[in-house]
Amino acid sequence: MCIFCDIVSGKEKSYKIYENEKTLGFCDIFPISKGHILVIPKKHYEDIYDIDEETLMEVFKTVKKITNILKEKMEIKGVNLINSNTKIANQSVFHFHVHVIPRREKDNLNFIGEWWVKKIMKLTDSELNEVKNKLTG
Ligand SMILES: [Zn+2]
Repeated sequence: MCIFCDIVSGKEKSYKIYENEKTLGFCDIFPISKGHILVIPKKHYEDIYDIDEETLMEVFKTVKKITNILKEKMEIKGVNLINSNTKIANQSVFHFHVHVIPRREKDNLNFIGEWWVKKIMKLTDSELNEVKNKLTG
């Protein structure tokens, strides 16, 4: 049983914003901000490890469409794109999805992505080299 598959099939109610043959964009019913949209492939893929490249591209094409729609219709000029994979990363619905989260001036949502704003972690040159060597060796 997958809630997003039920949304695709129409068994579960949803607020559709955009859809094409392979993907769907609809309102998150527990939005972080007004206009928070979820984009999913219509076919069930669990996460980034499961989804194929072609479908992933289709999902991101729809993400792009959604950001344009938000810009045109809601004057949204900034978004965070969030995609979580596996339980380790707090994925909650195990059907691949990308959050498109509209940002507005002084919206107090800076906790989104605050690790790069606050630069929480700092590695030394040798630690960064170790990471690089591990990933490219
Ligand atoms: Zn599903």
